[in-house]
Amino acid sequence: MLKSVIWSSMLDYPGHVCSSLFFEGCNFNCEYCQNKDIGKAKSIDFEREVLSKLLERKPLVKYTVLSGGECTISPQIQHIVDILYQNGFKIGIHTNGYKPEFLKENKNKISYIGMDFKTSFEKYSQIAARNINTNKIKESIDFIINNIEEYEFRTTVYPKFVDENDCIKIAKYLKERNAKKYVIQQYKMIDQIAVIPFAVEKLKEIKEECNKYVKTELRAGV
Ligand code: SF4
Repeated sequence: MLKSVIWSSMLDYPGHVCSSLFFEGCNFNCEYCQNKDIGKAKSIDFEREVLSKLLERKPLVKYTVLSGGECTISPQIQHIVDILYQNGFKIGIHTNGYKPEFLKENKNKISYIGMDFKTSFEKYSQIAARNINTNKIKESIDFIINNIEEYEFRTTVYPKFVDENDCIKIAKYLKERNAKKYVIQQYKMIDQIAVIPFAVEKLKEIKEECNKYVKTELRAGV
């Protein structure tokens, strides 16, 4: 279900002010997840509480981002994508890439995808705390590179399961596929976990190494 809305965000759709919609539920179970409590919030009725305000604000904000949780598994998502598309909104999706069929089915409606590339493939099941079929992740990566106008792959550097070597493996994998953009993100500590984030200086070094293979940005301290 839809659980929360940020009406104006500068962070979720690169280069544009957007409205961001957050859905509960995820098919991964990452221990560092910032959004685990999202399900506790009251559900929001899209038609009644969101759509009219989005339409009112559309002359100023026509970009939207659907996020989560993992928005692609929400029972509401297809309906909401269809309505946003019919009303002329630009639609961005944040995803962990585990539902490539949703991305493919909505190829013409989605103008931006930000996909988590969690870690090197051999560690995927550890970081997601689920048995992960990495072929689905690979399928999403290839689909995005070849079909979506604007995209980024990003790694939150959670030191327990992501180190410099993992990021370099990811950068090399993306280079082989001619990907346009990779983002290294600093992990933000959450209360329950005593894993210390890498220092920004260390992340800068990782970013520079990755940048040798694919255009890489660093997001830290935000
Ligand atoms: S994939 Fe994202 S939303 Fe899902 S558990 Fe991991 S961090 Fe949380």
